[in-house]
Amino acid sequence: MKKIFEDIRKDFPILSRTIYNKPLVYFDNAATTQKPKIVIDTIAEFYSNYNANIHRGVHYLSDYSTQATEKAREVIKNFINASSVKEVILTKGTTESINLVAFSFGEAFINEGDEIIVSKMEHHSNFVPWQLLCQRKKAVLKVLNFNSIGELNIDELYKLITVKTKIIAVTHVSNALGTINPIEKIIEIAHSRNVPVLIDGAQAIQHIKVDVQKLNCDFYVFSGHKIYGPTGTGVLYGKKDLLEKMPPYQGGGEMISKVTVEKTTFNVLPYKFEAGTPNYIDTIALAEAIKYIEKIGIDNIYNYETELLNYATERLKEFPEIKIIGQAPKKSAVISFSVDNVHPSDIGILIDKMGIALRTGTHCAEPIMQEFNIPGTVRVSFAFYNTFKEIDLFIEALKKVLLMLKK
Ligand code: PMP
Repeated sequence: MKKIFEDIRKDFPILSRTIYNKPLVYFDNAATTQKPKIVIDTIAEFYSNYNANIHRGVHYLSDYSTQATEKAREVIKNFINASSVKEVILTKGTTESINLVAFSFGEAFINEGDEIIVSKMEHHSNFVPWQLLCQRKKAVLKVLNFNSIGELNIDELYKLITVKTKIIAVTHVSNALGTINPIEKIIEIAHSRNVPVLIDGAQAIQHIKVDVQKLNCDFYVFSGHKIYGPTGTGVLYGKKDLLEKMPPYQGGGEMISKVTVEKTTFNVLPYKFEAGTPNYIDTIALAEAIKYIEKIGIDNIYNYETELLNYATERLKEFPEIKIIGQAPKKSAVISFSVDNVHPSDIGILIDKMGIALRTGTHCAEPIMQEFNIPGTVRVSFAFYNTFKEIDLFIEALKKVLLMLKK
């Protein structure tokens, strides 16, 4: 198993570069993943040989690009097991997907006094759009809290849901704590009260097999760049009957059926939600990223990354001054930690000089930091191209950094 994953590194050109003359150790995968050669090559190949704006073009290149884009949509649909391509909206990322739902679902279904539930461990992009919606509609935002090890207080959900609850938006995996949330249970509870659920899959889709039909979620969103695809790509999966009832998010080309001076009628799904020239070449490359990881096998990825997570967690125990923030038993390959009397960014800056890329700060999840009463954390996050040897290098580097900072 380990051998397969070490060989995989050669598929990622950036992993063989050095930083300050040290081999790059890239532990910032929760922020964005590196790209395999097939993704980079697909982009170059398309711009070199096939580029033309998609839809309604009568010429060869436009037709080729259109078909390739729709094939990419089909790949995404199969990957998440949506029942139809109509339910797969192409966006520029998780943030745009959530904003789309918050606006459009909000227009259709949210009125004054209605309630929306999010959790306290959401990334700002699954928090602020709902806050904005609540301000716009005079609705109420309710927050599901988590316990000291970073698990959602699921029992509280029963009390939070009322007849006024219109939607629950919750993350599948926390980017700052690593917790894998029991979304199946959350969906079951919500549906027993007829409340739809949006799942933020930004930190799950690259680690865990997602089957939207089996989950029975109403919306599932993710970003292409976190699943080894290009930046500026993303997906909104939504159940057809809900999407049909929601008004368009943006107006422009392609989302229309007919435009007259007096009135516009709208295109069918998924195009109703895809105004303007989409990021089609990057979406085609995203489909290549998906095919690439499917070949490795998402379950193999999950198992190997869990080994990395367990090993790194164990090694961090060598530091009595380190506290791991987020110790849920079910975690994805993310470790956030704080160090007594040391500011996280000091660690980040010093360790960078040793070629190690990790992230420090609030990770766009300030309510989590407020709950723990800390300024932020140091976060290492793994991908399947990381190795045990890199974890050893990181531990040695961390020892040196902490010695320097304590002098
Ligand atoms: N949700 C979670 C859980 C995330 O980790 C992120 C990215 N850090 C986002 C949403 C936002 O993703 P993007 O910036 O790609 O839109």
